[in-house]
Amino acid sequence: MNFAPEAEHIIMLRDTLRRFVAAELPREKVQQWDREHHSPPEVFRKLADLGVCGLTVPEEYGGQGRDLMAAVAVVDELSRRGMVLSGPYLHSAFYGGLNITAHGTDTQKREWLPRIARGEMFFSYGLSEPDADLAAIKTRARLSDDGTAVIVNGTKRWCTFSERADYLIMLVNSDPQGERYKNMTLVLVPPDAPGVTLEPIDHMNIRYTLSNDVIMEDVTVPVENILGGPERWNQGWGMLMGDVLDIEKLEITTVAYGIACAAVDEAWQYSQERRQFGKPICAHQAVRHQLVDAKTKLQACRHMLYHATWLAHTGQPCSVETSMAKLFICDTTLEIVLTCQQVMGAYGLAEGYDMERHVRDIVGMPIIGGSSNIQKNNIANRLRLPSK
Ligand SMILES: Cc1cc2nc3c(=O)[nH]c(=O)nc-3n(C[C@H](O)[C@H](O)[C@H](O)COP(=O)(O)OP(=O)(O)OC[C@H]3O[C@@H](n4cnc5c(N)ncnc54)[C@H](O)[C@@H]3O)c2cc1C
Repeated sequence: MNFAPEAEHIIMLRDTLRRFVAAELPREKVQQWDREHHSPPEVFRKLADLGVCGLTVPEEYGGQGRDLMAAVAVVDELSRRGMVLSGPYLHSAFYGGLNITAHGTDTQKREWLPRIARGEMFFSYGLSEPDADLAAIKTRARLSDDGTAVIVNGTKRWCTFSERADYLIMLVNSDPQGERYKNMTLVLVPPDAPGVTLEPIDHMNIRYTLSNDVIMEDVTVPVENILGGPERWNQGWGMLMGDVLDIEKLEITTVAYGIACAAVDEAWQYSQERRQFGKPICAHQAVRHQLVDAKTKLQACRHMLYHATWLAHTGQPCSVETSMAKLFICDTTLEIVLTCQQVMGAYGLAEGYDMERHVRDIVGMPIIGGSSNIQKNNIANRLRLPSK
């Protein structure tokens, strides 16, 4: 195993992003936007002007060429100010750029990838449902009699950013009598299509947007909206579970890592300013140890995250490593952030500090995008641990 310094262009990218975050995402504004469930489009526009949305898009379609190490570094840096911009960035560069590049038809690539690279298009995932696990989804799609359209009926839950997305990537059951896992299709549904209703779900975490129930009643879209075209009918599960999923697992993982970095920085700084019993609290051994534990765990997370990212970046098999990263980092960053909150005492839960948002945001990370238990199942299965 080799260890090398981070590539020069990524060091420069981080530097640019740190200056961008300091200038464009003032803490008070981010706190206000979080209260309002808002991410300002005009600030995302400025981020896109830095060219970062093209980091998942091939050069022939106007991108920078696929550079996952750099794209993950973008999510990492932005997430140190929460998900206010890293959220929309995922909906553009990752959900859009990766899926369309991997699975899009020539027409889908030609039409959408240049816009994704410019940061002009967003995609939202419609996978979860109120009463079904992913393998048993109930949202139903059928082809029209003349075969030119797809008609969708059903309800998706937790569609984050669906009110701002150009397309919702809907996992639908396209063959109720069909064999399990060979009966699903990915259909791109515009949120403003006739028959689509969005109903916001209030929630305490990742408030850069709303997450919605999406109710679809006889929603009709052209067959050209099938991801990969009509020939990919009933192939959605394989497309969802392929290489793109390995990278998807790293998205929330990177956000969790970025948030934990910010929490450690805030607690580290606060502990030097806050005095109790005649000295800064960082001079009390118990607090020193808490801070050092947090930093050490963070370092372990960093190694795991960037090792798994490097495997994905270089096209090596990494479904076990990406699941391990999701499991370990999301669980460990939860511990880190709660420790940092304790170091800040009551102020770690109070308005005016970022810590209370870090706490709210981090508790969801071991759940969203495949829970820790599901990652354990994946790892055991992938490593062929017998279950009987
Ligand atoms: C803020 C937020 C945003 C989200 N955004 C999106 C989105 O944009 N698109 C989308 O499709 N979904 C989204 N989700 C949904 C998210 O991915 C799911 O919440 C997650 O996959 C877990 O599903 P669940 O909440 O239904 O939990 P459940 O599946 O009901 O699980 C509940 C508990 O049981 C455990 N469990 C369940 N099955 C097993 C098993 N087989 N073995 C062991 N343990 C098990 C789980 O680990 C968990 O601890 C979002 C969720 C939140 C909170």
